[in-house]
Amino acid sequence: MATELNKKIVVVGSGQMGAGIAQVAADAGCEVSLLDVSIEAAKAGRAKIEQKLNRLVKKGKFSALEVETLLNRIEAADSMQVASDADFVIEAASENESIKQSIFAQMDKFAGEDTILASNTSSISIGKMAAVTNCPEKVIGIHFMNPVPLMELVELVRSDATSDQTYSTARQFVEALGKTVITSKDRPGFLVNRVLIPFLNEACLCFADGVGTAEDIDLGAKLGLNHPMGPLELADLIGLDTVLSIAQVLHRDFGDDKYCPAPLLEQYVDKGWLGRKSGRGFYDYR
Ligand code: NAD
Repeated sequence: MATELNKKIVVVGSGQMGAGIAQVAADAGCEVSLLDVSIEAAKAGRAKIEQKLNRLVKKGKFSALEVETLLNRIEAADSMQVASDADFVIEAASENESIKQSIFAQMDKFAGEDTILASNTSSISIGKMAAVTNCPEKVIGIHFMNPVPLMELVELVRSDATSDQTYSTARQFVEALGKTVITSKDRPGFLVNRVLIPFLNEACLCFADGVGTAEDIDLGAKLGLNHPMGPLELADLIGLDTVLSIAQVLHRDFGDDKYCPAPLLEQYVDKGWLGRKSGRGFYDYR
């Protein structure tokens, strides 16, 4: 990464997205504090980043010294107090409105006057998160794509209250990370997931109807539509719990049954088949 960014970032949620955001920010020179439900969970998130980077050292994509420097910029933290002097707090916790609102209330309580409060949500209203704070003008959606280090796009989401200054500071930050920005209004699913999730949901319905095998559905999209991944393998990568949550937000907030989540998706999530992260989804990763 060319630019050395001298920023302090707090990332809340150290799962696949939070860990990826922490890695990319640290790689750009930022000091990163990683929070989760406990210090142990935050440390586990940091350990996963370390494991991934060590694999990249073996592949010759990073030197051992670069990885050491990068990891020294990421600390596992156990309190939102680290937000007091942060430039950005980026919430990347589970896709659940009440969890996010309670995190935003904490962010509002502890963040400094100039700290931007961002969410990596895939679908949940930025305005609803801003509403639990005293500074809705500083709240914005910074929606990274998965896997964060590899995907070029970031979708910025402005609520009606997001200020021009918040937007332009967030945009400069994201572009300094080497990403390309698109901007969406604060509507359910924004731009990317409003297009993607009905497609993934339809693939689940096709599979449940027995129209074809998972392999054929995915091969159809790869070879027939020129997609790099098929919809079922992509759903497994995203996490079926996350796909289901986004589908539920689209269905509820638009009030349109065309977004109704596939019952099979709900059944898989109920039995803990969350895709790659749990070892089982449409495919078996164990
Ligand atoms: P994940 O399940 O991998 O990780 C979620 C993390 O949040 C877990 O570590 C969990 O312990 C933590 N968490 C839950 N409640 C918390 C709380 N109260 N405080 C702090 N941490 C808490 O999920 P993910 O795939 O990393 O998704 C995170 C967010 O990013 C979601 O909003 C999701 O919609 C969004 N997102 C996901 C993808 C994707 O492809 N998975 C892509 C773009 C955006």
